Amino acid sequence: MATSASVTSSQTPVVIVGAGPAGLLLSQLLDLEEVDSVLLEARSREYVLNRIRAGVLESSTVELLQAAGVGDRLRSEGMEHRGIYLQWPEERHHLDFVDLVGRSVWIYGQTEVTKDLMRARETAGQEAYYDVSEVSLHDLEGDRPTVRFVDSDGVAREITARAIAGCDGYHGPSRPAIPDRVQQIWEHGYPYSWLGILADVAPSTDELIYAWHPDGFALHSMRSESVSRLYVQVDADDDIANWSDDRIWDALATRLGDGQGGWRLTAGPVLEKGILPMRSFVATPMRHGRLFLAGDAAHIVPPTGAKGLNLAAADVALLARALVGWLRDGRTDLVDTYSDTALRRVWRCTHFSWWMTNMLHRHGDDFDAQLQLAQLRWVVRSDAAAAGLAENYAGLPIGY
Ligand SMILES: Cc1cc2nc3c(=O)[nH]c(=O)nc-3n(C[C@H](O)[C@H](O)[C@H](O)COP(=O)(O)OP(=O)(O)OC[C@H]3O[C@@H](n4cnc5c(N)ncnc54)[C@H](O)[C@@H]3O)c2cc1C
Repeated sequence: MATSASVTSSQTPVVIVGAGPAGLLLSQLLDLEEVDSVLLEARSREYVLNRIRAGVLESSTVELLQAAGVGDRLRSEGMEHRGIYLQWPEERHHLDFVDLVGRSVWIYGQTEVTKDLMRARETAGQEAYYDVSEVSLHDLEGDRPTVRFVDSDGVAREITARAIAGCDGYHGPSRPAIPDRVQQIWEHGYPYSWLGILADVAPSTDELIYAWHPDGFALHSMRSESVSRLYVQVDADDDIANWSDDRIWDALATRLGDGQGGWRLTAGPVLEKGILPMRSFVATPMRHGRLFLAGDAAHIVPPTGAKGLNLAAADVALLARALVGWLRDGRTDLVDTYSDTALRRVWRCTHFSWWMTNMLHRHGDDFDAQLQLAQLRWVVRSDAAAAGLAENYAGLPIGY
């Protein structure tokens, strides 16, 4: 390590910007193949460990975490679900993914995935800087790209790498470091949001319920045997202050069909609540020179298809293989095709998330509502339609 003009310089094969699931999993997969990396994260370790977000893992994500050596707690504490319920007033139907496509999904919170990955990273002894600021990326088009930042002690640092992995989410500095002349942004907005709660009550259902209702969409999900996660559709400009806990539980009871066919929704203390905006966003290409984007840094999907975390994991599986092939084995074919290969799956999942969202959320007029109901009836009555939903929800193979 050398110091010049009050900047501390060092080198590593890969700098990973962002310690979300994408960055942490990438560092773990590289470590298993003996490729070193340095991880930079703007937030504190504690903040990252306590962030509550996604909770549904596709079968391919589960296999990937297992292969990465962090699947044991998932297998013992996670909940395997065979499928989901789709419902609308007076009707609830189960789609059994295992029967339809031979794959299940697992309920295991992103918070738990993060804990497992962080522990693995610490065991491996790979270098990480939390609480960093002023992160900037340089010389991406040359063969010695550099990341500059200020560490938590206020020390200005510069790390030169052979590759930079931009895993810093939607708001991070990696994507904006790609010049406008080579980047294309694809975006779609939705006129509604999700109001989500985490509740200290056992789930009232064994598997997730996706409910279409004239008042708006509702979802009954869960984080564990004793903690429920539930959502209601609200207007995009709604304010959480408008929603008391009682109002939220009343809306959930109505939309999820409390009392319908004897089913009851059990309410409980709300641990956390917030409004989650919905958007579809893709930035192409996912590589520029020596910078490779992965996860939310390159794409965002509305959460209806449970794809955000799974897409991040799928990107990183491809990227790890590509970087190992290049940095350890000297082959460049996989880094050269990384963006195209990853984007095939990204667009498939972007379409699926958009399709699920449009089918289930109230928008438009009564004509649109009839079309949505016609589509829902088709999905539950046609094996081909049900298998299409199941194949996408339970997850396509890595490298699809
Ligand atoms: C509130 C919320 C709820 C969600 N709920 C669901 C859900 O129910 N289902 C679902 O499938 N998906 C959900 N998602 C999406 C899912 O959580 C993401 O797709 C997933 O976290 C993507 O992982 P990632 O590692 O790519 O990005 P992130 O998890 O966003 O990680 C990026 C990391 O980069 C760090 N970073 C940012 N800027 C810098 C910087 N300058 N320097 C260094 N580090 C930086 C961030 O602090 C963060 O730790 C939700 C997202 C949010 C925000």
